[in-house]
Amino acid sequence: MKYLILFFLSLNIFANLDLAPPSFALEDGKKAVFIDMISNDSQFHFKPGYLEVETKFVFKTQETGFALFDLVNELDSISLNGEKVAQKLVNLPGKDVPMRMILSSVEKDLEHTVEIKFKFYPSKQRPELNFDRNKKRLSFYFKFCDGKGVRQLLESYLPSNLQYDQFKLNLKVLFAPEFANQVIIANGDVTKISKFEYDVNFPEFYNPGSFYFQTVHKSQDIDVFNYKGIKFTLLYAKSNKVLNKDVFFVSAIKDKIDKLEQLFGAFPHREMIIYFGENFSGIEHFGATRTSRYSLGHELFHMYFGRAAMPSDGRCAWIDEGLARWADGGSWKKWVSSMFTRKSYIPFDKHEVLNEKFVGLKGQSPYQRQTYNLETLHLDPYEQGRYFFSHIHHLMSDKIFDFLEYFHKKYFKKLYTQELFFEELVDFNEDEETKKVIRRLEERYFK
Ligand SMILES: [Zn+2]
Repeated sequence: MKYLILFFLSLNIFANLDLAPPSFALEDGKKAVFIDMISNDSQFHFKPGYLEVETKFVFKTQETGFALFDLVNELDSISLNGEKVAQKLVNLPGKDVPMRMILSSVEKDLEHTVEIKFKFYPSKQRPELNFDRNKKRLSFYFKFCDGKGVRQLLESYLPSNLQYDQFKLNLKVLFAPEFANQVIIANGDVTKISKFEYDVNFPEFYNPGSFYFQTVHKSQDIDVFNYKGIKFTLLYAKSNKVLNKDVFFVSAIKDKIDKLEQLFGAFPHREMIIYFGENFSGIEHFGATRTSRYSLGHELFHMYFGRAAMPSDGRCAWIDEGLARWADGGSWKKWVSSMFTRKSYIPFDKHEVLNEKFVGLKGQSPYQRQTYNLETLHLDPYEQGRYFFSHIHHLMSDKIFDFLEYFHKKYFKKLYTQELFFEELVDFNEDEETKKVIRRLEERYFK
């Protein structure tokens, strides 16, 4: 009996459909249902001039209906349980980016298998896939699209899902004979089968934002060093090559890690891949980032509250980003101290940057992927987060750091929602007045 219970428990650990948005009906009456991706076995085959993708994923739903998954690329073929099937892009309620719906109803609680093939070509919009002139070398990495579009993570390359879903991805990587000297950098276990074949197994707690994959020619600079028990792997875009790396990159990393550990406790990752990219922005994954030196501190901060503890949807992304703004770089101390040495402290909801139209982050849609919704907001949600956490800092004083350390450790490799975050924050505080203020702010500006 004991074994039976354990078996059921382990089956359900990453079945996060309770965190998925509600199913919804399309105009034609079709019921769109969200899926729990159980496994994803995919293959990248790098051929001269393009990437061929073959993928098979298994999923379940809690309701009978038309299953939704996420994939940007046009498909060459798709089958459901071995039969050819049609699919189309459908918009989620509200104005968000579309998902793909399989136009054949699936029965709830059963496992279904989808197989898909498509090709991925390099283009101006896709600088992440690049072949040299002789097509003997290639570079490719999972990237985001620099502010031009919202679609930005795994769904650009493989079938994926919203952030609520944690699933196991096994990726086989094949190289055409032309590409005999490629190296793979990924935040999963990489096994070299031959010069032309690799297996990359990612852990099962990953959600779509976690995955990092990159392949470069072996002649490219890759620096590895250890600091405080963390193994750092560094790669550089061309524009970063002229600089003195030790001074410019390594010491900057050590400096940021020192500061973060001082404030929030031990760095949650034992390995950290850092790709210093071409511009000022950055994107974070589990123990991996593509960043500029400018954004380095910000991206490393995300390794605590974005990619260790993990926000489950677009409604709570402001927590991680707001905390990052509040704690950012070396400036947070100055900023916070200037705020708290004012004679009359201005609370979050009375601050001059918030006008009478300010509605906070109230009434966010469960379908939104990002916190941004500037049509109804009068202040950048990340800035609201920053002001909110400054207020909490004011209320809790330095106990806020104890809370944050407690929180990221408790939710390591787990998803959290906005509701859970507030619950934990209220519980952590012993003072009744503080509890009351936090509840009032949640009620008024966030619920
Ligand atoms: Zn950020």
